Amino acid sequence: MKVNRRTFLGTAAATALAASLPVKLAGKTRKVKVIKDDQYDPWIEIDPTALQFNVKQLHELSGNRPILAVVKNNAYGLGLENTAKILDELPEIAGFADVKTVDCLTLRKSGIKKPILMMGMTTEEGLHELARNDIQVSIYQKDSRKMLEAAAKKLGKSINVHLYIDTGMNRMGIPCHEALPWITDINKSKSMTIAGSFMSFTEDPDFDKEQLNRFLQLAANATSAGAKMGTLHAASSNGIYHLPEARLAMVRPGIGIYGAYPTHPGIEKEIKMLKIAYRLCARVVRVEKMRKGDSVSYGRNYMADEPTWIATLPVGHSDGYLRKAVNGAKVLIGNTLYPVIGAVSASHAIVEVGSEKSVNVGDRAILVGPDHPEIHPSYISEKLGVSVYDILMHMSARLPKIII
Ligand SMILES: *Cc1c(COP(=O)(O)O)cnc(C)c1O
Repeated sequence: MKVNRRTFLGTAAATALAASLPVKLAGKTRKVKVIKDDQYDPWIEIDPTALQFNVKQLHELSGNRPILAVVKNNAYGLGLENTAKILDELPEIAGFADVKTVDCLTLRKSGIKKPILMMGMTTEEGLHELARNDIQVSIYQKDSRKMLEAAAKKLGKSINVHLYIDTGMNRMGIPCHEALPWITDINKSKSMTIAGSFMSFTEDPDFDKEQLNRFLQLAANATSAGAKMGTLHAASSNGIYHLPEARLAMVRPGIGIYGAYPTHPGIEKEIKMLKIAYRLCARVVRVEKMRKGDSVSYGRNYMADEPTWIATLPVGHSDGYLRKAVNGAKVLIGNTLYPVIGAVSASHAIVEVGSEKSVNVGDRAILVGPDHPEIHPSYISEKLGVSVYDILMHMSARLPKIII
């Protein structure tokens, strides 16, 4: 594809040019992954300094507790390996947590040396592979001891476990009221080392307190019974912000690390500011003038009631951009916000440019990112009534990543 460099010399192009040089990061030189500046595929830009900033902020907010960084679902869309490598260098990060066997193994194989906790369920074979790669496993089943002892015997070493306690979420974990005899039994096993114990909050502010009480009561009872539970951890991003007493020995944030506020952006911003650590970008592929009465996209959802320019971006719901964007989301091109119109289809979104042709083919567009308050995920989330978690996590894993 032939391109005019001047047209494309936005940040992406500059990054692509600069990326042939090694980038300095946290005192170490690393090679960045690059996409060329001569293509029209959408991409994600990752900002390591924002990730570092957010980790510092969350660390401070949690009274300097170590952070177990949750990197599930492709590091909330930012890319598992590239994100984990950046986080791995930060002293505040004690380790990583994920919910899938394959992700935990990928992390280890990509060179992560810090502890990794697998929070989800795994098979016998999965357990063997996880333990062989020094990945800690969560246990919560009544017959966990049997399975772990068989696996430990086969491996010839003891396996590090975290006890997953269900204090009222009723999603994962052993029910709290049944946990004490189970914990004392596991304590007797030579095949397991209890590295920690954890729980998840429902994020109902009143019930969270009750859940925490149940957890702490169990821990006290275990201590009285001479049983160990290891490092206690409970608070995700919401807990770090809103339930100081839940910070315990370690905190376990996900979304905050990536720069999105978990629950009440307005309040949380005042408590501790975070920076969005990514941009969802695309380049304009078509600019055309609509006549009065022309319609746009499937269902003719948009009708031009006066002549107007429109521009097409090659990014759609299959990339993780929201179908609901047509209900009020805007896209930043240059310094101007343009509303999304018509319909977001699998691979395209269309914006209304207006009566002046202020946009050109090849212009860089930012659909989500830190560059304007109205493209911040929190704003889009509130505007469209979608969870901010969906805005991040539903981004396609296939989108190329540029580390800026
Ligand atoms: C996803 C998850 C987290 C992180 O939650 P955030 O709200 O993203 O901070 C923590 N713990 C468990 C068990 C999780 O599944």
